[in-house]
Amino acid sequence: MAMLTLERLHDLLDGNQEKDGLAWQGVCHDCQCEIRVTATPKVDGIHIKGGSVYEPQSDKFIMKCDGCFVSDPVLRNYQDCEVYSRVVGYLRPVNQWNDAKFAEFHDRKIFDASIRS
Ligand SMILES: [Zn+2]
Repeated sequence: MAMLTLERLHDLLDGNQEKDGLAWQGVCHDCQCEIRVTATPKVDGIHIKGGSVYEPQSDKFIMKCDGCFVSDPVLRNYQDCEVYSRVVGYLRPVNQWNDAKFAEFHDRKIFDASIRS
């Protein structure tokens, strides 16, 4: 699920110039509400408030509010999906097509060729 490990959190805090800890500002991955997650080092450990932070790829941080974390702590649908389709005789990623072909892609109808008995 790629939650921040305690070791990674310590690394981030060590590399941080602010004395009062770290803060992530943005929107919850699940419900899109505005959130601010803070990690504050204190005598009894690091206090995390405002939600949870995930790092699915290096330096790519994704947040969840407390409510969404409680209902589903697993981070889902966080990667862009590369879609290939045929364009002028070749299979190429759709996001590399020109604007006109990309618009045409959305007009295409899906044909299900599976055989059902
Ligand atoms: Zn949320």
